[in-house]
Amino acid sequence: MSGHSFQYARAADVHDARIQASTPGAAYLAGGTDLLQLWKSGAMTPTAVVDISRLPLGDVEFVDGQLSLGALARLSDVAAHPDVRRHHPLIAEAILASASGQIRNMATVGGNLLQRTRCPYFRNEQLACNKRKPGSGCGALSGESRQAALFGTSPSCVATHASDLAVALAALDAEVEVFGAEGARRVSLRDLYRLPGATPEHETNLVPGELITGVRVSNATRFTGRSTYLKIRDRASFEFAVVSVAAALQIENGKILSARLAAGGVAPLPWRLERTEAALTGRALDSQTIAAAAEVAVAHARPLADNGFKVALLRNAVLRVLQTLGSRP
Ligand code: SF4
Repeated sequence: MSGHSFQYARAADVHDARIQASTPGAAYLAGGTDLLQLWKSGAMTPTAVVDISRLPLGDVEFVDGQLSLGALARLSDVAAHPDVRRHHPLIAEAILASASGQIRNMATVGGNLLQRTRCPYFRNEQLACNKRKPGSGCGALSGESRQAALFGTSPSCVATHASDLAVALAALDAEVEVFGAEGARRVSLRDLYRLPGATPEHETNLVPGELITGVRVSNATRFTGRSTYLKIRDRASFEFAVVSVAAALQIENGKILSARLAAGGVAPLPWRLERTEAALTGRALDSQTIAAAAEVAVAHARPLADNGFKVALLRNAVLRVLQTLGSRP
């Protein structure tokens, strides 16, 4: 950060924020938990910082079966909110697994969804990384690929997405509210993110200056009693997920009416396990169905030299979450 000059402005409202952040090299500052680390490591060097932390976007509401999370709601407040715990425990579980209490007190919903990859090459400016410096090469692909993705990679980038909350929200088909030059729009959380392709530096479908203002989860309370989040990490500290799985089932008359599963730590974005969902739907949640569903989850995995162990981890994580959900009354 030293020696790097930048402009600082506090946004008066969302219009002002968007205009100020439309200049190339501008970055939003909310909780600051990721931005400041990236800045220190040289992975980001913003020319302007637009402070949105005082905007009134911190509410959490549950009205007519719809959960609304303000983009500036603190993760700790979301996880502790009675309506989130009662109606969407999957979200609370994912947040509680996501970071230390100290970080959860600072980090915001919007910032968490937009956090950058934990790929060690990205966060070390001495190393080659197409995402940080387009055209410089992918250090992880030719070097240490233990953290790399199993799905959705490209020859340009094999990094994973780091957000636990995004995995839970992907499973619940959440929508993201965005404010830009054309006004407000909604985009499904799954369409917020992009696969790396040849341009891994572009991680989302937001245009410069567009601001996430909130998240909505609708029509998902049917999963309340049968959802769970499992995170597997290297150490029993608040590390980032090696593999995680969010699962939500609706079971009626002994049959799975609806299944939603998403995995973290295995792709450049929260990865919906659609084939697994299809393998579950219409069946009884017995050991045969669970084993088949877990096998389908990894059928199209493309491991690299060092991350083949993630295939077995993902298979076992799917097995475990389905067994957990099957054991509930
Ligand atoms: Fe950079 Fe992506 Fe390669 Fe990591 S995997 S070094 S983030 S290009």
